[in-house]
Amino acid sequence: MTLTPPSLEGLYDSPYAAELRKARPAPRFAPAMEADYLRAFLAENRTLVRLSYTLALLFIVARAAAAALGGRLPAYSRLDLLGVVASSLVLAWLAWSRSYERHYLPWARILIPVRNCLVAVQLVRVAAQGQLDVLMVLPLILVGPFYFLGLRYRSALLVVSLTAASMLGAAIAFHPPLTLVAPAGVFAILTTVTFAVGAREIEKRSRRSFLEGRLVAELAQHDVLTWTKNRRVFDEYLPRLWRQAGEDGRALAILLIDVDHFKPYNDRYGHQAGDAVLRKVAQTLQGCVRRPLDLLARYGGEEFTAILYDTDGSRARSTAEQMRKSIEALAIEHGGSRAAAVLTVSVGAAVIAPEGGRSPGGALQLADEALYRAKSQGRNRVEIMDEAEYRLLVTGVFSQELADTLKKGNA
Ligand code: GH3
Ligand code: MG
Ligand code: MG
Repeated sequence: MTLTPPSLEGLYDSPYAAELRKARPAPRFAPAMEADYLRAFLAENRTLVRLSYTLALLFIVARAAAAALGGRLPAYSRLDLLGVVASSLVLAWLAWSRSYERHYLPWARILIPVRNCLVAVQLVRVAAQGQLDVLMVLPLILVGPFYFLGLRYRSALLVVSLTAASMLGAAIAFHPPLTLVAPAGVFAILTTVTFAVGAREIEKRSRRSFLEGRLVAELAQHDVLTWTKNRRVFDEYLPRLWRQAGEDGRALAILLIDVDHFKPYNDRYGHQAGDAVLRKVAQTLQGCVRRPLDLLARYGGEEFTAILYDTDGSRARSTAEQMRKSIEALAIEHGGSRAAAVLTVSVGAAVIAPEGGRSPGGALQLADEALYRAKSQGRNRVEIMDEAEYRLLVTGVFSQELADTLKKGNA
């Protein structure tokens, strides 16, 4: 199945969707996305790269053993042989090491062409001395770079071209018997071209599936109307941040932000205008939630929620007030509101330090109670509740009225 996402006019457009819509995709993504792709690509191809080195090292050992048993070692220069074995060992070590994702590719890009060119020159030189059987490995050294570079088509093709050029240079220098060398060369080139065509297709598919994977992950986390994080993200994030705050001994603020008299807004101005307002509200609220660990999400309908990490009552109040004032300042006419002449929001916030006996669910319920209070006290206002009110939550059946009754009883 291929995914061709529609353009979301006027809305945030995913860079992955934009890339997927291109009829003729560029061979490389923009730099930041390309770096991200490369990381994913390297992680995905690690097994292939490792396997290639295992096979290459086995091949070197087997060939040396066969030559030794046959009593006839090809007349490679010792220095070149050392270079080839040493670079193969360094790359194999990098492929198996922890720093593979950071260091393998930069080194492979230098060492693989050097190693290949050394081997190519040696093969031609040795063949020119009459040991033509060495040419058997030609297809292997031309196809090898595709595997060693994790099937990166363009890099591999560059290495192959360099290798072919050094072979040509060596042929001019050492004059091997052309009638014998040419068929091996042609066969090797045909093998490589066939392989390159396959590698190109594989890289295209790998790029496409990277984009699709990233897009699906993005869609799964965002609300399609407002492009804020969705309820799923909020539900997963709250318990995680709660645990983190518990370990760090910090307090959390949970804010619930609800548009005032939104139903009359839809009734008066139409559902589409309502949708546009929700986008504007989301964008404005997002401007108030900017710290790295904080989260704004669409909770449902015309309700948003924010989690603020390491936040006390006064910070929670100032952020909530900033939200309320910024929405009011949008000056969106709302003739059907009884709270103001313009569109407004009410904010309820719970400020709680996670300690034994408290739960994220309880904190959320407290924020709901605070919102209820803000609504019942006239809307377009902020209400904060903290530990004092949390104690009044009775196993999930707390309500503002009950709290008020209990408070009166205590007083
Ligand atoms: P209150 O001040 O008490 O919050 O009053 P309200 O009218 O905002 O509350 P109510 O819960 O009665 O109505 C919420 C409305 O939000 C109802 C629904 O039509 C509207 N709504 C929910 N989701 C969307 C949406 O995605 N788009 C639009 N346009 N409206 C939505
Ligand atoms: Mg509302
Ligand atoms: Mg509501």
